[in-house]
Amino acid sequence: MIQQILFLITLGTAIYFIRNRIMRIRSTIKLGKAIVINDRSDERLRNLLLVAFGQKKMFKRPVPAILHFFIYAGFLIINIEVLEFVIDGIVGTHRIFAPYLGTFYNVLMNGFEFLAVTVMLACVIMLVRRNLLKIKRFWSAEMTLWPRLDANIILITEIVLMMAILTMNASDQLLQQRSVEHYTGTGPLLFSGVIAPVLMDLDTSALIGVERAAWWFHIVGILAFAVYITYSKHLHIFLAFPNTYFAKLEPKGHMENMPVVTNEVRMMLGMAAGSSEPPPTPGRFGAKDINDLSWNHLLAAYSCTECGRCTSECPANITGKKLSPRKIMMDTRDRMEEVGASLAKNGSGLNDGKSLLGSYITKEEINACTSCNACFEACPVMINPMEIILELRRYIAMEESGSPVAWNSMFQNIETNFAPWKFSPADRFNWANEIKK
Ligand code: SF4
Ligand code: SF4
Repeated sequence: MIQQILFLITLGTAIYFIRNRIMRIRSTIKLGKAIVINDRSDERLRNLLLVAFGQKKMFKRPVPAILHFFIYAGFLIINIEVLEFVIDGIVGTHRIFAPYLGTFYNVLMNGFEFLAVTVMLACVIMLVRRNLLKIKRFWSAEMTLWPRLDANIILITEIVLMMAILTMNASDQLLQQRSVEHYTGTGPLLFSGVIAPVLMDLDTSALIGVERAAWWFHIVGILAFAVYITYSKHLHIFLAFPNTYFAKLEPKGHMENMPVVTNEVRMMLGMAAGSSEPPPTPGRFGAKDINDLSWNHLLAAYSCTECGRCTSECPANITGKKLSPRKIMMDTRDRMEEVGASLAKNGSGLNDGKSLLGSYITKEEINACTSCNACFEACPVMINPMEIILELRRYIAMEESGSPVAWNSMFQNIETNFAPWKFSPADRFNWANEIKK
């Protein structure tokens, strides 16, 4: 009974923290502009299934894709076992599903153990790749102490949690062999069976202690991990699904026009305005802070896995410019967290004298983007850092006239000469005069 009460307190505490965090993340995403995305639902669903669920884009790089697949599959499938843990914890039973599932329970447990071992192996290889082989994309400038530590905490926690499952099963099997009351038969378990001999010399009460300690360690670890995830880049395991669903479907070169500007240009060129209704005047051209971006941009920032595939394919970054599309997403998320935390304490929120552009992202970074879309192409969860970059650049150009001097003269030429060059439109066909001669 005491264990049940303790379990309910632990579960309730975890649910409380997770709920609070979900509400915070939701309200922070809602700081973005409220656009409506409800078109082409079939295509969106296909992206969700293929890209998020099926990991399709991950397989462009097979080694990390296979390692990630084991961790992902392990996470999804082993957590079915957590359901049994929770019911056992509340009701006070032990392996409540075993009597109902019979032989299938044994198959299921062996499957979980196989996944636990593959998850551990994949995590060890990933730790080696990150920390010993020092793969470049995990050691670039924005991967400072916390992002690197966050990735390592996640990998080490997964190894320890998987070890706890195997230890629990190993001691459980020995207790079954000794016919200890309460320990329902599971049938032979292959992987934990290998480590069972290590515990063989323990007396029954010590063995029960090991089994209970491993059980508690695993479930408390899972619940603590679930809370931690909401603060970590690991949030992508949930948000990658909505993010791929709401991702951009237009062709990659497509850029979002501002109706008010399009109408101006059309009138300037002597064309009829696109609509008889005047388009609403935007409060601000482009984006200076997170509330100028759309909610789906903010959702994308929370979905970023910090994998660095975008940065590793960004031509600006490769050629030594300051721009890193991964940093754009990380900075956006950091700014969101800052504003969200401030608003939660009734603080100044967005009016804290800071902004995404300036306090986090510099003009130098923004101006280095070639608009090539390589980052979007590379991203395994369909995040498009370029969209945020273009919004920030639009603000610099249209609100601050702060683009580089060479660009400003090009803008001026387009406005007055309808072309990037400084020739009058009346002179446009002068080259043909030459030919006539
Ligand atoms: S669109 Fe910009 S940020 Fe993205 S890869 Fe190209 S240059 Fe880099
Ligand atoms: S934006 Fe995409 S590719 Fe870039 S770090 Fe984030 S998840 Fe990886």
